This record gives sequence, structure tokens and C-alpha cells, in this order.
Amino acid sequence: MEKRVRVRFAPSPTGGLHMGGVRTALFNYLFAKRHGGDFILRIEDTDQTRFVEGAEEYIVNALKWCGISPNEGVGFGDGPHKPYRQSERKELGIYKKYADKLIASGHAYYAFDSNEELEEMRKRMEAAKVVAPQYNNVTRQNMRNSLTLPEDEVKRLLDANTPHVIRLKVPRNEEIRFEDIIRGWVIVNSNQIDDKVLLKSDGMPTYHLAHIVDDIEMQISHAVRGEEWLPSAPAHVLIYRYLGLEAEMPKLAHLPLILNPDGNGKISKREARFPVFPLSWKDPREAEPFIGYKESGYYPEAFVNILALLGWNPGDNKEIMSLTEMASLFDFDRVNKAGAKFDPDKAKWFNQQYLRMQSDESLASEFKLVLESKGIKRDNEFILQFCKLVKEKVQFTKEFWNEGVYVFEAPVSFDEKVMTKKWNPTNKELFTKVYQRFKNLDIWTAVVLHDDFTVAQTELGKIDMQMLRVIISGVAGGPQLFDLLALIGKEETIKRMDHFLQTH
Ligand code: GLU
Repeated sequence: MEKRVRVRFAPSPTGGLHMGGVRTALFNYLFAKRHGGDFILRIEDTDQTRFVEGAEEYIVNALKWCGISPNEGVGFGDGPHKPYRQSERKELGIYKKYADKLIASGHAYYAFDSNEELEEMRKRMEAAKVVAPQYNNVTRQNMRNSLTLPEDEVKRLLDANTPHVIRLKVPRNEEIRFEDIIRGWVIVNSNQIDDKVLLKSDGMPTYHLAHIVDDIEMQISHAVRGEEWLPSAPAHVLIYRYLGLEAEMPKLAHLPLILNPDGNGKISKREARFPVFPLSWKDPREAEPFIGYKESGYYPEAFVNILALLGWNPGDNKEIMSLTEMASLFDFDRVNKAGAKFDPDKAKWFNQQYLRMQSDESLASEFKLVLESKGIKRDNEFILQFCKLVKEKVQFTKEFWNEGVYVFEAPVSFDEKVMTKKWNPTNKELFTKVYQRFKNLDIWTAVVLHDDFTVAQTELGKIDMQMLRVIISGVAGGPQLFDLLALIGKEETIKRMDHFLQTH
């Protein structure tokens, strides 16, 4: 029988969760939803030296903002496998049992080497021109461990609580194979693999041991994670095998990298000219804060949609999709091996599509807040009409202001090009007449203005529409002119024309 689908997102709280991490969470979530399974959030905090204050809270908040909620795990409610924080699980003695089992079966060993001894080994290797010095099935023979020391000496060291780690005993020259759902068969010779530390001297398990124990205990069916974990996967296969758990090992899926817009290398938070974090993030150890997608004005639905297409192709040129729709289509056979280039302009385009999907009412209430922050009060109907008018021109709500600031404030400067080219005494005379006509209008709507203008053209000759726009708004382009005049209102339009004619 197929295992129930249970997947996990297992970040380490070592910093703000960046977009690559959110994409991993998203693919896990979509896969779980697609198969009616469970999605778990586990916090892998066994490396105390890399722990960053606030990172866990950030991860939880980021997932909440994105709407990709786990159904079990830290910040989302306990399930049958609590606790979901590895540091708490360690206190329950969960990991040590497994390390001891590997020792008992001869697949792991104690290593007593001090940092200085490890450093010396590294230097010796480097002097011998070894490219990547490792503690492995060759070098371990010259180190201080339970494979080289006499049995009674090992016992004495252990009894005296001498600091030590437990390492995986990787066999010599064996072929290790496993099937990755995205990459197919991966075959690696065991000589490439180092004797990974499983349990550290502080009693904490390393990632390698801890995630395996938890994946087994939490009955995880698929381990879906970033490509950077692919090189350690062969060692993980050995650990499952030596624990007698290979049959229960989750299926592996290593997701492609997210690359810079130019395709060379991973996105770097310092170099990127676009947000890298879902929410703004400030690492307490660093000076520089990073602005998030949320704070840059992205809709969470747009952000998630952008991420989904980084490495996944749903087919049929589909682009705009809700989470529910994505979940109904998602599968790994359409996830690429190759890195996915991130296109910041396309990201903005996505936001624009989602903005256009918002109701005018909801755009108006978003923009009302922007106006309020500038101390501008207008009635809701006015704001609604304004949003309708400029909605097609913007990608973000915050751009409403720049796009139509002249609706709220009379212009103080006038497009120079248009002025030089078009403003002259003949035009002044003409617009003075237009001004008089406008003043006499009783009804002020776009339709009436349009009709009046048509009549005026036959009576007065060609009237330059762009010039009129510049007089009213200061700028050479914008939304439909009569709609704009209707919104600005008769009183304000007349006032602006009057002022312009007096001063030019
Ligand atoms: N704690 C690992 C990380 O931070 C999880 C890797 C995995 O999913 O197995 O990425």
C-alpha cells in the first residue's frame, strides 16, 4: 500500500527565510494538498552556534503571510508528533538511541580528536595536495577514534567523559545508489563521502542524524528540499540502511536552485536589486535591514504565484494560478532539474495582474491608507473613481499616488516640452474661451465635457487636448482626459485653468 503523503518543511532558524526557502515550503505544501496529505513545519535548531534570535518567529509569520499553512508544527498547532523543535526532541533522548544503535552494530564510532588534531590533519592533507581534506575511510586510520584506539582505552576515555563525537563509518569503495524523484538515479562511490558527525560533543545530533530520525518518527513519505542537500544524500542513504530503515526511507526530491536574473549563480541577498525575503528582515547581528515583498507592495498571492513557477511548469502556458489551482495541478514530473532564473520584471508583472483582479473597492480602501498617511482626506467615492481611472497604469498600489498626484494637488510645474512646443498667444486666446465655456457648464460629467468640447472645436477651431491636459495636470500623459476632468471637478478645474492663464 502507498504511504500516506506526509511532507515537511524543515528550516533551521539561522536567519530570515529567503524566497528559495519559501519556494521549498510551497512545493511541499502543494504536493501535500494535491495528494490529500499532511504538511509539517519542523524547526531544525540543533546547531546552537548558528541560532539567530527572531528567525523562528519570522519563518512562521512568513508562511502565514504566504497562506501556506502547515497542518502540524511549530506555530501552527501540535499534532501527534510533538514537539516539532529538534532542541526539544533532543531533551527527550530521541536521537541518542539511534546513534547508540549505529555504534552497537559497528556502523558508527567514537572520535576523540581535538580541534587542534583535526586542524593538523587538514594541514597534512593540504600539504599532500589533497583538494578537499576529509575525515573519511582513509584518514580516520590515523586519528584518535574507537577504530584505532585499543578497546580499554576507548572505555577509559568514555568513562572519563572525554569530549567526543559519534561519526558514521562509511565503507570503502562501495556504490551507493538512490532514486531522486526529480533527478532520477544518482550513483555515488562511498570513497567520495566523509565520515559525517552524527552526534556532537555537546550531545546534540547533527542535521544528518536528526532529520533522518525525525523523518522516520514523523512518518514522512517524501523529503522535498533544496539542491544543496543532494551531496549529503548518499550518506543519508547509508544511515537509513545501517538503521535497518531503508524500506521506510522517504522518497527524495531535490529542488532546482533559484538563479540570479542573468543566470550566473544563486541569488545573493546583498547583491540582488529586488527583495529576497517575503517579509522585511533584519538580522540582529548585522547592520543592514532587508525590505520584504510584503513591504514592497506585493500581494501574497502574486508572490506565491511567482515562486511556484520557479522550477515548476504546470503546462498549457499557465501562469496566473491561485493556490488551490496550483495544488490541483502540482506534480514533480513537471519540476525541472536545471536552475530557475528569477526575473524581477516578470515578478512585477505578476503583481500587476493580481492588482487588476482586485475589486475597485478593495483598491480604494488600500489607497485610502496611503492618502491618510499623507494627511489627505477624500470621500470614499472620490477615491474609488480615482482608483478606477489609474488602475490600468500601475503595478503596485503605492504607485497610485505618483501616477495621479495631480488629482489631489494642483500642479506647480508644467511639462516643459509641451509648453515650449505648444504654448503661444494664439493658444492662450483659445484656452481663455474654453475656460469661459467650461465656467458656463451646468452639468460636469465626462460625457458633457466631451460633447461640449466637440462643439467648441467646430466653433473655435482645433483645440490641443494635450495642452489642456498639461494645464490641468502639469504632465503630458495620463488617463482619459474627460474622465480626469470629471473627477477633479468643475470648481477645481476652473480654478486651475484660471491660475494657469493668469500666470502664463
Ligand atoms: N534544516 C535543513 C535546512 O535548513 C533541512 C534540509 C531538509 O529538508 O532535509 O535546509
